[in-house]
Amino acid sequence: MQALAILQKYWKHEQFRSPQQEIIDSVLSGRDTFALMPTGGGKSVCFQVPAMLKDGICLVISPLVALMKDQVMNLQKIDIKAIALTGGIHADEMIELLDNCQFGNYKFLYLSPERLQSDWIFDRIKTLPINLIAIDEAHCVSQWGHDFRPAYLKIANLKTAFPKVPFLALTASATNRVQEDIMAQLKLENTAVFTKSFARKNIAYMVFEAEDKLHKIEQMLKKNPQPSIIYARNRKSCIDVASQLNSLGFSATYYHGGLHAKEKEKNMALWMDEKVQVIVATNAFGMGIDKPNVKTVIHIQLPENLENYYQEAGRAGRNEEKAFAVLLTSPSDAMNAESQFIAVLPDKNFLTTVYIKLCNYFRIAYGEGIDEQFSFNLNQFCSQYKFPVVNTFNAIQFLDRQGIVTLSQEFSEKVTVQFIIESKEVIRYISLNPDDESIILAILRTYSGIYESPSALNLSLIAKKSEASETKVAALLQKLQERAIIEYHAKNNDATLTFNEVREDDRTINRVSKYLENQNNLKKAQLQSVLHYINEKNTCKSKLILAYFGESQKENCGICSYCIMQNKDNSGKKTIAFDIIQLLKTGNYNSRQIQNITRHSADDVIFVLKQLLDDDMIFVKPNNQYSIKS
Ligand SMILES: [Zn+2]
Repeated sequence: MQALAILQKYWKHEQFRSPQQEIIDSVLSGRDTFALMPTGGGKSVCFQVPAMLKDGICLVISPLVALMKDQVMNLQKIDIKAIALTGGIHADEMIELLDNCQFGNYKFLYLSPERLQSDWIFDRIKTLPINLIAIDEAHCVSQWGHDFRPAYLKIANLKTAFPKVPFLALTASATNRVQEDIMAQLKLENTAVFTKSFARKNIAYMVFEAEDKLHKIEQMLKKNPQPSIIYARNRKSCIDVASQLNSLGFSATYYHGGLHAKEKEKNMALWMDEKVQVIVATNAFGMGIDKPNVKTVIHIQLPENLENYYQEAGRAGRNEEKAFAVLLTSPSDAMNAESQFIAVLPDKNFLTTVYIKLCNYFRIAYGEGIDEQFSFNLNQFCSQYKFPVVNTFNAIQFLDRQGIVTLSQEFSEKVTVQFIIESKEVIRYISLNPDDESIILAILRTYSGIYESPSALNLSLIAKKSEASETKVAALLQKLQERAIIEYHAKNNDATLTFNEVREDDRTINRVSKYLENQNNLKKAQLQSVLHYINEKNTCKSKLILAYFGESQKENCGICSYCIMQNKDNSGKKTIAFDIIQLLKTGNYNSRQIQNITRHSADDVIFVLKQLLDDDMIFVKPNNQYSIKS
């Protein structure tokens, strides 16, 4: 079957978007391939389609757990077998899942990079019939990239293990330096390179300084009553802004990572179905969302870097119609940027302290803790140790990037179960309720200690093993609880923290602290780029964005906030020039007289007179009077 036929059959797209076809051809010819494509450019199709054309399984490495889950779900929806192995899965479950991959005709195995750090998982993967290795967010392998993760360096070992399997490195952001570093670090050979331009001609990039941001938002949304996204930095301001907009008569909802799955789904549906105009969201919103007719994307706070900004702003105008990407700033934003982004970066001492306290908080002993997963409340943790919240968050985020812990801010439901009757009574129960046998046996076989202490239950694993639906498993747990056979707790978390390594205190931190300064410096440089984007008043905004991604654009875009001001100025100046010429046709005047008669401002008149002199339209007489050139 041909690539296009696969695309049409499973994804129901009529044709490929450039340069998808070229990338797929390159991968199919067995070449290592590097693709630089903006998010939303259709990256996943580039490995999913060729993998479907080959026997075996495609290994996809990605650091974004939510994105992996999303893609696995989408593949399953179109009847393609896919699985994601992320943090927090215990070794015995992991073996089971990898066996499934090998013998269950799976086509896609998604893996977080930390998983490659365990030798036994790496060895197990080596025995799989891998047909393609796709590395998403490939810039994570580079120290010069904005999201360096040392675990990505292990990917090069896959190259030795699978010398004949093509590698496809994908990224949405890479300067030339990062690009070369990616290919070197991944040991790609004879690489075919494809890039898709970052230019979005239909997007008008706007930067406005506004003392009263809400008022400005109101004006913009009134003028453009189509679907809009407002990005806010934290959960609280999402809710605040949404309610302010509602009281101003707009219809608005909100979205952030801490919402219950059902609430997320509900709010998202309201906006997707256009029952509300505006969704106010944190950067947790947007993954996998493809709404073509978003007219306006407004950021009400400074973005952390231009990579994120480009990606979020780029959710506007996917239908190619004119759209707006607006960044609202206030004079205090730039002033506070230093304290907000830079002063809160952790140093080594603080990093060590936070790591050790985290281990203590969760009662992890030295030398233990690998694969332990906990529900985590950052504010509680910080108040217990009197840590500043943002600094602590940054420290934990650094530990996350280094693969030491994984902090997932996604809402999750954690279920723990303990059998509180004796095993012979459980067997009696099973004999009386044969319908429940397969689920109960799956639980008992998977969690051997479940009679002694509460075990965290993986619902989807049990569902898979017993060939029942998750709902059915949950319903049975409820029933067993009511009959006092088990003790069952379902706990809602707004974040989970997984320990990926054993606790080794200073040794753990010493190993990674060499990257800390580099990453902190990068963050400072990124903030400078954001400030430059805002403060540079003499360049087209679209040019500034493209320059950041290493592209040059010759012409001004004509629609950004700079270009509009420029055009306004020009048409104003044209009027003044016209008035002056008309006047000089009637006689000679000095600049003050011209100014009095035409009633334009002194500055404007002098500016235009100088232009007319330069253009040789007029000349100055010895008595300082201007005269028209005949
Ligand atoms: Zn422009």
